[in-house]
Order: sequence, then structure tokens, then C-alpha cells
Amino acid sequence: MPAYDYRCKSCDHRFEAVHKMDASPPPCPTCGSTDLQRLITSAPTLARGILTHAGDGYRASKEQLQDKWREETPKLRRKLVDRLGEDTVSRMAPSLNAPEE
Ligand SMILES: [Zn+2]
Repeated sequence: MPAYDYRCKSCDHRFEAVHKMDASPPPCPTCGSTDLQRLITSAPTLARGILTHAGDGYRASKEQLQDKWREETPKLRRKLVDRLGEDTVSRMAPSLNAPEE
């Protein structure tokens, strides 16, 4: 199951929750509020996730990581747009926008 980062709007506590994509997040572990904001995982974290998933992330050089990131970004972005919508992805993860040639 995927892990998501949340910020509690009541007490500003940040935490990670693992749950199904279509399930609602658990309440804040600190104050019990369900008024949460989902934080979009940063691009480097996403890249690491992809690389680890691909099984070649541990000893990859920085150059290899960058190549891989360039290769995977459009696919990843498409997936996020499917899930979150174009507006959200553009706003929350500008680094995932297609690089300008
Ligand atoms: Zn809280």
C-alpha cells in the first residue's frame, strides 16, 4: 500500500499514513482531527521510490539517477494527473512539469 504524508490543519502535526489509494486518511495521531491536508511527496522522494522499486536505486550514480528521473518523470506525472487532476499536479508539484526544451 502507498504511504502518504499529511499535515493536520488543527495542530500542524505532520505524519505519514499508509492506506489504500481510495481510502480516507486516518485521523491525526496527535489531536484526532480529521481535517488533514495531503502533502505531495517531493520529487526526489518520488524518484527514489521509483528507483528503489525498479531495484537499481541503491548503487546508482547521480548521473544515472538524473537520467532515470528524466525518463520516468513524464510517466509519473501522467499517473499523478490521473489521480489528482492537472490543476493539483501543476500547483503542488511544479518540478514534475515537462522540462522545457
Ligand atoms: Zn492534529
